[in-house]
Amino acid sequence: MTVSTSRPRILVSNDDGYFSEGLQTLVEAVSPLGEVWVVAPDREQSAASHAISLHRPLRIKEVRERWFSVDGTPTDCSYLAVNHLLKDNRPQLMVSGINHGANLADDIMYSGTVAAAMEAAFLGIPAIAFSLVTRGPFDFGPAGRFARALVTEALTRPLPPRMLLNVNIPGGVEPDGYVITRQGRHSYGSNVVEKEDPRGRTWWWIGAAGPEMDAGPGTDFHAVRFGHISITPIHVDLTRYQALEQVAGWVGGLAASMEAKS
Ligand code: MN
Repeated sequence: MTVSTSRPRILVSNDDGYFSEGLQTLVEAVSPLGEVWVVAPDREQSAASHAISLHRPLRIKEVRERWFSVDGTPTDCSYLAVNHLLKDNRPQLMVSGINHGANLADDIMYSGTVAAAMEAAFLGIPAIAFSLVTRGPFDFGPAGRFARALVTEALTRPLPPRMLLNVNIPGGVEPDGYVITRQGRHSYGSNVVEKEDPRGRTWWWIGAAGPEMDAGPGTDFHAVRFGHISITPIHVDLTRYQALEQVAGWVGGLAASMEAKS
């Protein structure tokens, strides 16, 4: 058996852009642990979700050594990094963030930060998404220190395949340890702002998420509210396994009613 002495490759991306402070913090945090490659959007891509650019060409720009910007989505960045830039020597771990803001509960569905990590997980690379839970000021210090500790662990003992960790670090406090959590739930709002532009045309702006709905003990919301770092294991399989039998029964009833009508 040959033991590799080379440093592990770590891929870093985000949805706030290749220049953002949260990404810089994450790069500094993991640099002592391996050979870091940054492949990140060339502009703000927050709430891009898992969009992939199939209908237009993409440009990759090397902004400095092993640091690339892409004029695409967070998913595009992970895809191009793993399948093109690093295809001859795939990264051992992918980290996304540190996002400027929370990715709790239903935020996961809309998040570009989580999508970049999820795409890496799709492609077989263990991945972790990091987010700082605040609307500002953004002090990334504690989040960076925790990222370094968690990544050290993930490089030593690889995560199980086809899943990722969604990590939220409370902002504005020194975090009180970490908790393994499940996704909470927002009530997603009805908030639409309607105004008129300078040319007399109406515009609409979708407002912020609704209030917390499922935020009890065990949820990501609950952990960060009490000052703990929240770690939620998530996966890419959206099947509702608990409902398989119920839906089979329901579909059986549907078939019977269609027969009765014919
Ligand atoms: Mn963002």
